[in-house]
Amino acid sequence: MALIVQKFGGTSVADIDCIQNAARRIAFEHKRGHQLVVVVSAMAGVTDQLIQYVNATTPHPRAEEYDVVVSSGEQVTSGLLALALQNFEISARSFQAWQIPIRTDHLHAKARVNDICTSLLEETLQQGIIPVISGFQGLSPSGRMTTFGRGGSDITAVALAAALGASRCDLYKDVSGIYTADPRIVPTARKLDRVSYEEILELASLGSQVLQHRAIELAMSYRVPVRVFSSFEESTGTEIVHEDEIMEKALIHGITHTHSEAKITLTQVTSQPGVTAEIFGALADAGVTVDMIIHNNLESRDLSPLAFTIARMDLPQAQATLQKLKISLDFGDTIVDQMTAKISVVGIGLRTHPHLTGTLFRTLSQRGIEILGVATSEIKISILVHQDFAELAVRSLHSAYQLDGETAEKPMLYAVKA
Ligand code: ASP
Ligand code: MG
Repeated sequence: MALIVQKFGGTSVADIDCIQNAARRIAFEHKRGHQLVVVVSAMAGVTDQLIQYVNATTPHPRAEEYDVVVSSGEQVTSGLLALALQNFEISARSFQAWQIPIRTDHLHAKARVNDICTSLLEETLQQGIIPVISGFQGLSPSGRMTTFGRGGSDITAVALAAALGASRCDLYKDVSGIYTADPRIVPTARKLDRVSYEEILELASLGSQVLQHRAIELAMSYRVPVRVFSSFEESTGTEIVHEDEIMEKALIHGITHTHSEAKITLTQVTSQPGVTAEIFGALADAGVTVDMIIHNNLESRDLSPLAFTIARMDLPQAQATLQKLKISLDFGDTIVDQMTAKISVVGIGLRTHPHLTGTLFRTLSQRGIEILGVATSEIKISILVHQDFAELAVRSLHSAYQLDGETAEKPMLYAVKA
C-alpha cells in the first residue's frame, strides 16, 4: 500500500462531469488499496474570472484581499469533489489550507510554503478518510490567506507529497505527457516516458505551461517522484525523476520555442567599466528580467552596440527605465525588435558532447536561417531567430537531433497542451 498525492488541474475539474470523472480516478486507486491525498485546482476559467472581478473593482487591489478572492475557486472544487466521492460511498472530506495548516511567508499572490503541519491529515488518513485539499492557498504568519501564483496548485501537491513522505505525486492535467517538441508544429514529436527534473526545469522556464516551475524545484530538492497524466485518457504519462535514475542517457531531449521575447538594442554604449552594470542593475531594480545578452565589443572600440532580450510584457517598464538612464549614459538609439522567437535545444548530453552545439549552427545555416543571438547553459542552448523562421528552425533541429518519430534513439521533452 502506497501513499499517493493525486492532483487535478483546472481542466480536469472543469465541470460536474469532469469532477465525477476525477472521483472515478480516485476510486480506482482507492480500490487498489492505496492511501490517497487529493489536491484540486479551481474549475477551469474560474481563477481568471475572479481576477477580473478584483480588477473591475479597483485598479489598485490590496494583495491580502486579492488572495481572499482568488483562492475561493479551489474551495468550491474541494467541496464538490468530496461530495462526488461520498456519492461513490467513499469517505472523503474537504480541507482548506488554513485548516491544515499550510503555512507560508507573507508574500501575498506569490507566497512560498514555510511548513506543513501533517498531523490532522495523518489522523484523517488513519480513519480511512480521503482528504480533498484546496490547492494554491496558504496561511500567512499573520493569519491571512495567501496564494502561490498562477498554476500554484502543483506546488501544494508536491509540497504535501514531500511533507507526508508520499511515494508518488500524480498530476492530472489536460496533456498526455511531456513531448520532444510541440506536436502542433512538429508532427513527428513523441511523448516521453521519463525525463529528468533538470531538463524539465529548463523546459518549464522556457515557456512550457504544463508544470509550475517552483513545483519542479521542490520535487527536485525533496526527490518527490512526479508523474504527469491526462485525466481524459488511459496513458502511462511521463515520469519525472532524478537524472541519475535515467539509465539510457539521451543526448538531446527536446526543442522548445517561445514568441514572448522582445530584443532591445542600445546602439552606442560606452565601453567603460560599470556602464553595463548600471544598465542591468537599473532594469533589475525595475523588476525586468534580462534573458540573453549579446555584446560585441570589437577591438575595444569606444562605442559598441549592446543587445539583450526581455519578456515582452516587461517592455513598458524596460523602456521607462532606459529613458531615465539615457540622460546620464547617452547610449545612442534604442531599437526594439518584437519579431524574434527564442528556440532552445535541451539535453543532458550537452554537458559532455561539444559537437552537439555544432549541429545546431550547421543545421540552421543549411536552411539559411540567421541567428540573432545565442545563450548557453549546462544543458541548454538558446538562439534567437526571426519569428517567421521559428517553426522551420524547430522542425529542422528536431530531425537534425534525430528526435523524429521512430528513428529517435530515445524520446525527449516538451510539455504541450493535448
Ligand atoms: N487556480 C489557480 C490558477 O488558475 C491555481 C492552479 O490552477 O494551479 O492559477
Ligand atoms: Mg489552473
